[in-house]
Amino acid sequence: MRPLQARIDLDALRDNYRLACERAPGASAMAVLKANAYGHGAVSCARALAPLAPAMALASLEEGRELRAAGIDCPLVLLEGFFEADEIDEAVDNGYWCVLHSHWQVEALLVALRARPGRRPPVLIKCDSGMHRLGFFPDEARSVCRRLMAHPDVGRCTLMTHFATADTADDAQLRHQMAVVEALRVDLDMPACFANSPATLSAPRSHAEWVRPGIMLYGANPLERDHPDHDRFASRLRPVMTLESRVIAVRELGVGEPVGYGARFVTERPTRVGVVACGYGDGYDRHAPDGTPVLVNGQRTGLIGRISMDMLTVDLSDIPGADVGARVTLWGRDENGGHLAVDEVARWCDTIPYTLLTGVLPRVPRRYY
Ligand code: PLP
Repeated sequence: MRPLQARIDLDALRDNYRLACERAPGASAMAVLKANAYGHGAVSCARALAPLAPAMALASLEEGRELRAAGIDCPLVLLEGFFEADEIDEAVDNGYWCVLHSHWQVEALLVALRARPGRRPPVLIKCDSGMHRLGFFPDEARSVCRRLMAHPDVGRCTLMTHFATADTADDAQLRHQMAVVEALRVDLDMPACFANSPATLSAPRSHAEWVRPGIMLYGANPLERDHPDHDRFASRLRPVMTLESRVIAVRELGVGEPVGYGARFVTERPTRVGVVACGYGDGYDRHAPDGTPVLVNGQRTGLIGRISMDMLTVDLSDIPGADVGARVTLWGRDENGGHLAVDEVARWCDTIPYTLLTGVLPRVPRRYY
């Protein structure tokens, strides 16, 4: 067997979910499980969270079908609503809560509900409070909410928005977005769902009736490093995915020898190179530079040379005894308790943990424990 695997710690997932609940004690937390639970496996994560989470949030009905087929029966929130009107009946009849962000969705929903009245599905009405991605501008949101709240075919209406900058130290835009939706909420006297992970952890004023944590469930720190609360939660967030493999070959090189494609890296000292079974064909970021940290037998060292499709190369020179078969942790927690945060690997790759985690490809087996 190729030694690469993603170990998924479902206890850690549950603990991170509990942290979200602890930070937002007056709110219910819908677990965001879209994109295959951020790469961790949606069905297994949904089963682990089912006893705790009153709702789960997804990107599409297709993602929901997988969970329904696996017996997950809590409300499933479609964060972008439906993409075509012919999805509406399936969504309404199977306990999905649709986010409505555009006028065409409202009209299509009302047509479908009029055709078979009495179903009264809950909906979330999305206000564009400043991110300018999806949603109604505040005045439109007010009239859509009023109309749907008064409509006999529609069930509970929840006001929703999404924050663009809740993770950053500068809270000016967050305060602006909050002011916009708070005014609407007070005016309309309706339940609301605003907070993503960073706001769940550190913006209690945004909590309302529902929070929507995603990345924090998987143990990555959602706050930027200069955010005042960054360190406060770092030790509470438990990594869920450990991407681990083994050294499959070792070579001893002298000084001035190139390693890998493009001969990007050239040895500056006698170097013991370990070849590891993991590459961009598994989802490891090809842009990882020389020095990107990995753990070998629990000790830190760095990548050298370009990432190949199925392999990458690491410097073993300072790790006595590391040979073929040595255990390599690309991120996560190794079996000796050592930890390499996916956040740190992401910083080296000039990206965010979301892309590394969702990027782990299907050929990498997920092992749950
Ligand atoms: N809500 C919406 C609408 C989202 O798009 C996302 C993630 O992209 C989330 C909640 C969860 O965000 P996070 O993973 O930062 O907690």
